[in-house]
Amino acid sequence: MTAVLVLGGTTEAVALSRDLAMDIAFDVVYSLAGRTRAPTLPGCALRRGGFGGVEGLVRYIAENKIAGIVDATHPYAVQMSDNAREAANQIDVPLFTYLRPAWEEPSDAPWIRAASARDAARIVDGRFGRVFLSSGLGDIAAFSEQNATWFLVRSIDPPDGPVGLAAYHYVTGRGPFDVESEVALLREWRIDALVSKNSGGAATAAKLAAARALDIPVIMIDRPPAPPGTYYNDVTRLVAAVRQSFR
Ligand code: NAP
Repeated sequence: MTAVLVLGGTTEAVALSRDLAMDIAFDVVYSLAGRTRAPTLPGCALRRGGFGGVEGLVRYIAENKIAGIVDATHPYAVQMSDNAREAANQIDVPLFTYLRPAWEEPSDAPWIRAASARDAARIVDGRFGRVFLSSGLGDIAAFSEQNATWFLVRSIDPPDGPVGLAAYHYVTGRGPFDVESEVALLREWRIDALVSKNSGGAATAAKLAAARALDIPVIMIDRPPAPPGTYYNDVTRLVAAVRQSFR
């Protein structure tokens, strides 16, 4: 059996882990940062939480006789991807990287581009009064000084405690979302701007279509640069490459 470590946290990571686990040649370990609920993954071993930087990851790979790594983390999870690349180099284990294609900016409805969450907060400041913040719990702190703005915050799992915003309402929700319900949400809370990461993928794209339908501006936090080297933007191809590599 070939042990493959999948660095997960995305829909595609779950899909490719399922595919790989159906192949009796592979032992799949699915790894989560630990901030979201674990998916149901028959045939895969699950682990949660950081490895302890590059050093910890190298140790984990050696101790668990990992023969290949699949990095299928979120496009904004730069640290984990950097660590995976560095560890794979150090220990000479093949690395297969999945990068979800980005959403494309509509030419007739341009986004307001933000370089970071802090930049998005500066853009919101004094300009928008009721903002849908859908960019993830990790970015909320950047908006903590926007006291004149009310926020609708959505994430997959509820926060552990208060989120540190002056005025907000919290909703949980796991995609896929549809345009109709996203339009209803934006209307219900009288949203006048949407803040989003360019996560890509179909599951959460409906909020962009809804904002467009209601003529609500989208403040888009730019993607970090793509990782150096080869990457896949198709799950089937990545799985085929892993199989090919260990045949
Ligand atoms: P990150 O900044 O790249 O990772 C920070 C640390 O978390 C890593 O160094 C690692 O700790 C641990 N980690 C991350 N992914 C892991 C995994 N799959 N298995 C084990 N440990 C993992 O990533 P992030 O903090 O998770 O998120 C950064 C951005 O990505 C945020 O904007 C977030 O909204 C977005 N995002 C991430 C995920 C996800 O599941 N990671 C999902 C959706 C969105 P050690 O150094 O200790 O190994």
